[in-house]
Amino acid sequence: MTSAGRFAPSPSGELHVGNLRTAILAWLFARSSGRRFLMRVEDLDRARAGAEAEQLRDLTAIGVDWDGGVVRQTDREHLYTAAIARLTEAGRTYECFCTRREIQEAPSAPHAPLGAYPGTCRNLGTAERAAKRAVRPAAIRLRADVAEATVRDVLHGRYTGVVDDFVLRRNDGVTAYNLAVVVDDAAQGIDQVVRGDDLLPSTPRQAYLASLLDMPVPEYAHVPLVLNADGARLAKRDGAVTLSDLALAGVTADEVRDALLASLGLPPGPLKHAVAAFDPAALPREPWVWPGMPDPQPGTATRPGPEATARRLDS
Ligand code: GLU
Repeated sequence: MTSAGRFAPSPSGELHVGNLRTAILAWLFARSSGRRFLMRVEDLDRARAGAEAEQLRDLTAIGVDWDGGVVRQTDREHLYTAAIARLTEAGRTYECFCTRREIQEAPSAPHAPLGAYPGTCRNLGTAERAAKRAVRPAAIRLRADVAEATVRDVLHGRYTGVVDDFVLRRNDGVTAYNLAVVVDDAAQGIDQVVRGDDLLPSTPRQAYLASLLDMPVPEYAHVPLVLNADGARLAKRDGAVTLSDLALAGVTADEVRDALLASLGLPPGPLKHAVAAFDPAALPREPWVWPGMPDPQPGTATRPGPEATARRLDS
């Protein structure tokens, strides 16, 4: 299988300019290193009807293309089930009956890192498990034998983070992201993972799980997020931040693409022209603040025209 990068959006709503910037980066990392580029819709959870089509439309509009068909996680349950079965046979899983509240209120184990599962259900006896099963369905957790792991990241260097007994399958039967992402990346031959740096803290868990499943650990590049004017992570409530909102304000997809490329120090125009100029070592390491849209003037009914907006996006 040839090597590949990917973009893996969760179809919970329209992509905003921060997501689009990450997609452009993932595409550039893959294309500039001769990799294939795959599109995987992570629809196990939080999927909203229609969102996948909107996301793929917007990715196409800014010039992000992909090889082969779109892969959806909801079509791949058999792979996740097989991976959990394999871990279970190796004594690497256990049933957990804790509610979120019980986990929050449990005294944490001595020296346990912040946010780590306290291990409440790790050593339940058969009778205790049976009694708890009668009350609520179990989640499946990994039985980890390390407390942390170190990964290498193209932008962050060596990164060490928590590995705890994280959830593999939730008690409502939904496969957890951390398991699905590892199984899918390996099954799809993805050896380069480029995504927002909010996911860096999950990465040691994923790399550890890959090693338990004898799956290769991909190269990671966690890229800076896009922030709003207050320095918080960009969100839908920050005004016109999706292509459709921006189009209503007269900004074209090409203009958005060019503004995103400019924020990366790359020339405007079709993405393929940026491939030659793309140098991961020269990427900005700081988050980018979305310059936003000018508010309509009081008393005027219309938004500023495309030129005003394009100037604003360039600044
Ligand atoms: N589906 C995840 C998200 O949209 C991304 C997962 C990944 O790239 O590993 O946040």
